[in-house]
Amino acid sequence: METERFARVRAVFFDLDDTLCGYWDAAKTGLRRTFEAMPLPGLATEEAVLEWAAAFREFCPSLKRSEWYERYLIDGRSTRVELMRRTLLRVGIDDPARAEALADRYGAERRAALRLFPGTREVLEELRARYPLGLITNGPADVQREEVSDLGLEPLFRWVFIEGELGFGKPDQRVFRLAEQASGLSGDELAFVGNSYRHDVRPALEAGWRTVWIRRPSDVPPSADPSAKPEGKPDGAPDADAEIADLRELASLLP
Ligand SMILES: [Mg+2]
Repeated sequence: METERFARVRAVFFDLDDTLCGYWDAAKTGLRRTFEAMPLPGLATEEAVLEWAAAFREFCPSLKRSEWYERYLIDGRSTRVELMRRTLLRVGIDDPARAEALADRYGAERRAALRLFPGTREVLEELRARYPLGLITNGPADVQREEVSDLGLEPLFRWVFIEGELGFGKPDQRVFRLAEQASGLSGDELAFVGNSYRHDVRPALEAGWRTVWIRRPSDVPPSADPSAKPEGKPDGAPDADAEIADLRELASLLP
């Protein structure tokens, strides 16, 4: 029985983006609205989004190893502007002021479009009556704090660990050690719920925690090429303790 795997759990930690809230959906909506309002010459909205996605795929794999990472930890705007600058360059426009205007519009549109998945608040309220809850989320400090506050999550979580504030994030084991120290719990007393195998499930398994992998068909970033599928598990990698398609399954899975 899956539920027996969780019998000793005393606290539950969650990932934020695309686990509790639809960050990819908000990003897609935000990009579409931005390029509708501020079109790139000669390009339909969807074509402009594809140019942004191509610029993202070039820029982001090296982000964490580049001089951009220190700035990215503090604020999301500098890399947002750089991505728009590179998007414009791809279509032959060298205009830093326009890149800033596009990036600011995109940041505002994405923020306005961000929503919790259906039933999330109810599940968190119910679990919170049973366990202390924590968040472990990657991303810039300002963007992540804004999300937590906009979504009204602060009162629900006893612990919030943000990559931008710590200077490191998942899959780095140090963030799991911090959560263990904060909660005074370890191993099978802790459960982690997340949407990414690489950033959530695998490092939590390596930390000895119980893991729940939430897998939704919509879990594809706007930067992916159009035929991309949601993230899978590498061949031979260990399984999560449970896989769910909807957070509402947690209420019966956990003791
Ligand atoms: Mg996530």
